[in-house]
Amino acid sequence: MKKRKIAVLGSTGSIGTQALDVVRAFPDLLEITVLTASENADLLIIQALEFRPKAVVIVNKQYFGRVFEVLHKAGIAVLAGEQALKEVVEYEEIDVVLNAIVGAAGLRPTVSAIKKGKDIALANKETLVVAGKLMMDLVEKHQVKMLPVDSEHSAIFQCLYGEQDNTIEKILLTASGGPFRGKDRQFLKGINKEQALKHPNWVMGAKITIDSATLMNKGLEVIEARWLFDVDVDQIEVVVHPQSIVHSLVQFTDGSIKAQLGLHDMKLPIQNALTYPYRQTNKFERFDFLNFPTLSFEKADMDIFRNLRIAYECLSEGGDRSCVLNAANEVAVDAFLHDKISFFGMSDLIEATLCQLNKVKMPSLEDLLAIDLEARNVARDLIKDI
Ligand code: NAD
Ligand code: MG
Repeated sequence: MKKRKIAVLGSTGSIGTQALDVVRAFPDLLEITVLTASENADLLIIQALEFRPKAVVIVNKQYFGRVFEVLHKAGIAVLAGEQALKEVVEYEEIDVVLNAIVGAAGLRPTVSAIKKGKDIALANKETLVVAGKLMMDLVEKHQVKMLPVDSEHSAIFQCLYGEQDNTIEKILLTASGGPFRGKDRQFLKGINKEQALKHPNWVMGAKITIDSATLMNKGLEVIEARWLFDVDVDQIEVVVHPQSIVHSLVQFTDGSIKAQLGLHDMKLPIQNALTYPYRQTNKFERFDFLNFPTLSFEKADMDIFRNLRIAYECLSEGGDRSCVLNAANEVAVDAFLHDKISFFGMSDLIEATLCQLNKVKMPSLEDLLAIDLEARNVARDLIKDI
């Protein structure tokens, strides 16, 4: 494998820092060209001094001075603001852009990178939720690779190795079930953010941890899978698998099922995306069946975890519905994290926002960016009524 130059967008987050662990493990194969962060200037500086990228971006301009003061002396270019993300992903030498930004903010830089012919390692699932069809059309047009980092989608991607001539019957997307698996409505009414932020298997950023507790994360992943693997909504089934060892499965038209297994460690799917199609030897901890004598599977409860049902409905309805869903969900999660709405209030807010906005059937990318903003405003206004 030839050495690859990588831009890590969102390098200070959960996926971003683990991506740097992977780069550290393969100094001869992977090299950092760009690092970006929203606000965590101190960590960005530490990372830049270690990896010596060509440039860093600090999105929040308030921290520019602090970052510039240290990194300028080290010969590293420092840029600030959202627009700078577009500029740095277009650098000629970059091979792969790893998008580990959280939320719809990841959409624009993905578009810029694809248009410049860069391969994308995609953790930012919201990009495909907001504009899945348009993104995959762009990927096709510019002949780049869209390499999934999300563990379930990485699993499906790996199950499809060597299966180019065969047809998928069904995708079985596994879900841990989150911290509230099996809990009843009464219990969930009184949930607070501290309880929701404790995921049983994964340590992740706050937004995806809440999404995992409400099963919205799985809803977003159903939408992500629909676009990545070009299957219909009724070909995607969610299966709750509390041990998070089987990362997902693909059933082919002869009934045969392939699965990908491993410990719940995001470094594996990150490595897979960054070194694709090669499997490089690493020293990460190995899975041992004897430590997991039982792997179990159960049905997802879409009556209690209504967000999953709403996500399925939005995908079926098409048009701009998934974009509105995502925007309303980002506002809802933020409101829950600020104690403004309850656990079930999140689903109420998302449904109310979807009702308030008329469906747009064939939105363009510009339309979707405008709808995203409008849906956020509508959702924020509705919080007081929830
Ligand atoms: P996080 O909150 O830990 O990190 C987010 C990163 O994005 C940070 O570096 C932050 O500085 C940056 N960022 C935040 N807002 C930004 C903005 N408006 N503009 C530019 N940069 C911004 O999040 P995370 O858990 O690492 O998740 C990142 C993405 O990966 C999400 O889309 C999530 O769904 C997906 N993902 C995460 C995991 C996981 O294990 N954490 C697993 C699968 C998928
Ligand atoms: Mg996932």
